[in-house]
Amino acid sequence: MIYFYLRLVVSGRVAGWRRPINFLNHVINRTTMENKDEMSPLSSLEDWDDDVLKRYPEPGQPAKTKEEFRNYDSPEIDGVREFYRLNHKYQTYDNVLAKKANFLKFDKKEMPWWDAMEYLNTLIDDSDPDLQLDQLQHLLQTAEAIRADGHPDWFVLTGFIHDLGKVLCLFGEPQWNVVGDTFPVGCKFSDKIVYHEFFVDNPDTYDERFNTKYGVYSHQCGLDNVHMSWGHDEYLYQITKDYLPEPALYMIRYHSFYSQHREHEYDHILNAHDQEMFKWVDKFNPYDLYSKSPKPPVVSELKPYYEDLIAKYLPLSVKL
Ligand code: FE
Ligand code: FE
Repeated sequence: MIYFYLRLVVSGRVAGWRRPINFLNHVINRTTMENKDEMSPLSSLEDWDDDVLKRYPEPGQPAKTKEEFRNYDSPEIDGVREFYRLNHKYQTYDNVLAKKANFLKFDKKEMPWWDAMEYLNTLIDDSDPDLQLDQLQHLLQTAEAIRADGHPDWFVLTGFIHDLGKVLCLFGEPQWNVVGDTFPVGCKFSDKIVYHEFFVDNPDTYDERFNTKYGVYSHQCGLDNVHMSWGHDEYLYQITKDYLPEPALYMIRYHSFYSQHREHEYDHILNAHDQEMFKWVDKFNPYDLYSKSPKPPVVSELKPYYEDLIAKYLPLSVKL
């Protein structure tokens, strides 16, 4: 009897039930569509890096003219703006805890390190695939620039792997949960964070636990006690924390924390040790931002050197 009734409901013949079912389908479709739109507002992950470069041009280089900055017709700029709208809306304290609970299980994939770097490279951006350097090329250019300046080999290795956490995109995470400037959650959002105005859509802005200067933290409690917005930086830090020297771990964990390393907006929660270690983050940042060159490195020539470096510091395989 129940079976017969359900058949009628599913076939829509019980008029009173048809409307709720249609409504449910509509909600499911809408949610799916909205989520799809919100997955990839950037046509390329590099659009975010390019935007950072415009904000912090290389010292000595002519800054972009106002006209260049105000090219609002550019689809890249619209994409970056939409990206930050989503990032600032959804990067809540609860989002960070949920992502840590999921990804810090490291149960998605396990493979040799070099294979993981090649896996990252399957992340193909939509825009201008011919003109854009792929992920591996950005990593090799960063590392080679560090190496050319005679820095220690662990620093070179850090340059080589620093963006591996972007594999989060390959695990179905939306761009706003992978890249973008990072910032502490659980306390007031600094108004020096780019596109600060979009925090008006973040529920934590209205939560009394989180919207004061210190929020859930205390004076100079140290960044190790602070949850940063979720992204590729924290993820790779958690993967490498037992294997690399501490300065390398700071570079990896805080390389997108521009409101601190460029603007010093969170001195009230950093402790003295963080301040000391941020000198390394400052050292690393120019290599990340300013090492891009249109000449792609020859991967096959460099591979043996980087495989040796990986073998020196890291375990045989990486658990993602
Ligand atoms: Fe990065
Ligand atoms: Fe990078």
